[in-house]
Amino acid sequence: MRVLKFGGTSVGDAEAILRLADITRSRASDPLLLVVSAVGHTTDALEAIGRVAASGRLDYGLQVLRDLRLLHAGLAEELVESAQERRSLLTHFERDFASIERLVGGLAAVEEFSPAVEDRLLHFGELFSSRLVSAALASRGLPAVWVDVRELVVTETSHGGAEPLIEETGHRCREAFAPLLARRLVPVTQGFIARDLSGAATTLGRGGSDYTASLIGASLGAEEIEIWTDVDGVMTADPSLVPEARNIPVMSFREAAELAFFGARVLHPKTLAPAVERGIPVRVLNTRRAAGSGTVILAEAPRDGRPVRSIAYKEGVTLVHLVSARMFKAHGFLARLFEILDRHGVVPDALATSEVSVALAFQGCSALQGALRELSKLGSVSIREAQAMVCVVGEGLRGHPGLAGQVFDALGEVPVSLISQGGSEVALGFVIAESDLASAVRSLHRRFFEQAAEAAVEKEAAHG
Ligand code: ADP
Ligand code: ASP
Ligand code: MG
Repeated sequence: MRVLKFGGTSVGDAEAILRLADITRSRASDPLLLVVSAVGHTTDALEAIGRVAASGRLDYGLQVLRDLRLLHAGLAEELVESAQERRSLLTHFERDFASIERLVGGLAAVEEFSPAVEDRLLHFGELFSSRLVSAALASRGLPAVWVDVRELVVTETSHGGAEPLIEETGHRCREAFAPLLARRLVPVTQGFIARDLSGAATTLGRGGSDYTASLIGASLGAEEIEIWTDVDGVMTADPSLVPEARNIPVMSFREAAELAFFGARVLHPKTLAPAVERGIPVRVLNTRRAAGSGTVILAEAPRDGRPVRSIAYKEGVTLVHLVSARMFKAHGFLARLFEILDRHGVVPDALATSEVSVALAFQGCSALQGALRELSKLGSVSIREAQAMVCVVGEGLRGHPGLAGQVFDALGEVPVSLISQGGSEVALGFVIAESDLASAVRSLHRRFFEQAAEAAVEKEAAHG
């Protein structure tokens, strides 16, 4: 069987959902299961509605909510042919929009938007899109059946990005999906959303639908997990930053995991782990070019002769320097540092230490302020905001001695403040100012992909 996951833009409008139906039909010789994200931007809109309602602008929140209602009702009108099915879908929508209105009214009254309530609110996006897709497929003669993933994916109790309970989730998924697949029905379910064991709403973190797809795929022993999105697979760099980026036909689990961890949004960072454990290939494909073969991610990928497979980046990074003369040859210092970070629940994305100082890079940690206050008891702390972390990734980095030199040569005059290599054998990361990001990534891309290709062409011409 195959799991097909469709992201926000792949269910973003009626045309996209029709393409999704065509793709589903083209794979119907295998048992299929669909995982869908919320209709593009719905999750952002729901989050904004909650935030503005709690900050005293309920009217504005309700206006955005009206837009969402119109968007979803319009899609139902366009995509569901049977009047009875359409009525039933719209009834579900109306009931859910009424619940959202009550929830948002409550937020305005208490002037607070807690992570637990945010998870409850965000659930509606995937509930809407999955009902819509299921009805649209049924309308086109596909044997779709809507399944509520909240009964199946169980997490620990934490909000904004909870850890799933893998065994329980696997067990529940097998029980629920196996009989449907045996009857050759096509379950359509939600990515991203879940519940804890007490039944409270949780989520797997933004972009988490990829992770749901791989959790379900692994639990069912899928032949392949297909991640359908808006680009031609995993590319040599983010194509929205580097228009010259090109598709990577095949890469290893390790490379893809490092790329995702270092910010390549195309895959949620946790997606690969369940697939790795079961050795299930993950394929990233473009819904607009369904005939392409995208990128396949395998346990081992053949080297392509280049040291670098792709370049990733993260924005919104804060760089923290901690300098302490007491650290010189003192044991227990790093243990105290990590104990403080751990207690505040903040995790550095990279770090480098010298005898008397530590540099740490954090992305978007709201809890960082509290940790910094305590860190200042260990030594003098300085912070630099608006930084970015760039990472070059490739199995070919192993045993490629001159690589760091080539990377920093390509960066030219761009100041680099923290370098991290060695933690992973397949990644080399560093921190620069956000204002240098676009030009740095483009220079690296030119150096490792465009010039390399030109050199290969010249070499071939010389030989020919
Ligand atoms: P979806 O809604 O389908 O989950 P996302 O927006 O989460 O899609 O991920 C796809 C986006 O990831 C692309 O539009 C692209 O801008 C971005 N991206 C970042 N790095 C890469 C990369 N190395 N390869 C492909 N896409 C990338
Ligand atoms: N809809 C969720 C988000 O926007 C999950 C996802 O798209 O993967 O983050
Ligand atoms: Mg995504």
